[in-house]
Amino acid sequence: MNRLHDLRAPDTAARAYHWRDDAACFGRAALFLPRKDYGPEYLASTLKAKRICENCPVRKACLDEAMATERADGEGGRAGVRGGLTPRERTARYSRQRRGIPEPATLLDQYLRRTEALDDGHVRWTVSTNNIAYLGRQYTPMQLAWALATRREPEGLLRTGCGLAGCVAAEHLTDAAMRRARSHTKRYAA
Ligand code: SF4
Ligand SMILES: [Zn+2]
Repeated sequence: MNRLHDLRAPDTAARAYHWRDDAACFGRAALFLPRKDYGPEYLASTLKAKRICENCPVRKACLDEAMATERADGEGGRAGVRGGLTPRERTARYSRQRRGIPEPATLLDQYLRRTEALDDGHVRWTVSTNNIAYLGRQYTPMQLAWALATRREPEGLLRTGCGLAGCVAAEHLTDAAMRRARSHTKRYAA
């Protein structure tokens, strides 16, 4: 696995400063390099990584390096969150740069901007707006979290299954298909 996030120059008295010395992700490669690239666990770890990048003092240098060094790699050769962007977001960024198109906010940015991570993995929606328009589609906060975490449309109503009213942590949401599967499992486990 690419352990780029754990790289740091050896501590010798004479060595020069490198921006990686101040990387906020140092030692957290597992969070920044999730095994899967979809699903609720992926979303949860990616959001945590992005929040760390948001406050990282060397974010610009990190993103500049990623964009400069990964240019020749295909999307499959890009790994992990770097400079606040996922591999897929960096691929889209290359494509826009090539075509001279300005950067729009991603769906994930829309979610991050309006949420706050709480303890125990809960996520709070922090703004009064409950309708997010993105690329010609409207999302409720729960639909936004669901769209980021899964690649399928929800069946029926989305609900928070963690007991915290209004929680929009993707891994705490259920749709009718998931609730049906769970009650089926319970019935047969009883
Ligand atoms: S911007 Fe993110 S990936 Fe880059 S050094 Fe900072 S925390 Fe690590
Ligand atoms: Zn929750």
